[in-house]
Amino acid sequence: MELRKDPITRSWVITGDDADRVSHDTIPCRYCPDGQNAPQVISSMPSVDGGPWSARAVVHPEPLYRIEGDPQRRGEGLYDKMRAVGAHELIVENPRHGEQLWQATPAHVEQFLSLIGQRIQDLKRDKRFKYVTLFKNYGLPAGQETAHPTSLLTATTFVPRRVLYELRSARDYYSQKERCVFCDIIAQELQQAVRVVESTPDFVALCPYASRVPYETWLMPREHQAYFERDALGKGSKLGQMALLLKHTLQRVLAISENFHMVLHTAPNTEHKGDVLDYWRTLDEDFHWHLEILPILAQKSKSYSFKETYFSPVSPETAAKKLREASVS
Ligand SMILES: [Zn+2]
Ligand SMILES: [Zn+2]
Ligand SMILES: [Zn+2]
Repeated sequence: MELRKDPITRSWVITGDDADRVSHDTIPCRYCPDGQNAPQVISSMPSVDGGPWSARAVVHPEPLYRIEGDPQRRGEGLYDKMRAVGAHELIVENPRHGEQLWQATPAHVEQFLSLIGQRIQDLKRDKRFKYVTLFKNYGLPAGQETAHPTSLLTATTFVPRRVLYELRSARDYYSQKERCVFCDIIAQELQQAVRVVESTPDFVALCPYASRVPYETWLMPREHQAYFERDALGKGSKLGQMALLLKHTLQRVLAISENFHMVLHTAPNTEHKGDVLDYWRTLDEDFHWHLEILPILAQKSKSYSFKETYFSPVSPETAAKKLREASVS
């Protein structure tokens, strides 16, 4: 596997011939507490209900990124490439095989969120890594890898393109207005209350104004914070509240779609003090962490085939209304 940069869009692509890639989902399940062939455990959260643990991070059995070595950035004529150095972890969300985030107790979900905060903070100590991404693919069309409830965590030597777009836009907005664009969005959305799905004292779930896919939903802290891990690990953490809102939001999304992608957008690694990052002087003020949930609706797949311009056949106003109406527990 190697990383190649598209010289036009400047986005990195991981590529290589990997015909031997086999499923790492075994029967019986290797991610269950006493599973055979269990992958190497990186970190484990204590149990909240007498079980062996509540959530844990393990080494991905078929990693796309390798932890050892230097990226060896090099050119090939006009092209750029580097070794696929990074971290690739599986976050086992729960010891119970059949208990997904939206079914687990809020205390379990809170442990999962806290573990993510810890893993991000830990991986950011490695100066080689510019970004840590947490994502979940649920359902076969989403590319789900394991039957056991898991999310994926990667640490990369580059900032993924979508995040880079957001960072640049947030910085530009801040340089003009000296305000965080996400804080402004939250204030306006709460005031208009048409695209808000649910709000709590410290968090809000809403369908973004220009949703890319039907029922796209973002979950954001109402108080400004660029780093998820600082909110997750800080004093008086509000993770319990976030855990419940996440549970509710996923229940709402699943009332409409069987499959989804979920991705956490937090600030990049500022330990990496290269010239490249120099333009993020206002990062703490201009960026605002959030969790994006992108449902996949088979019958609305047109919105995915028309890649040049996003086409979402359900307006975010209708989407928010339907999501609000879904029952939650
Ligand atoms: Zn299992
Ligand atoms: Zn903000
Ligand atoms: Zn985002």
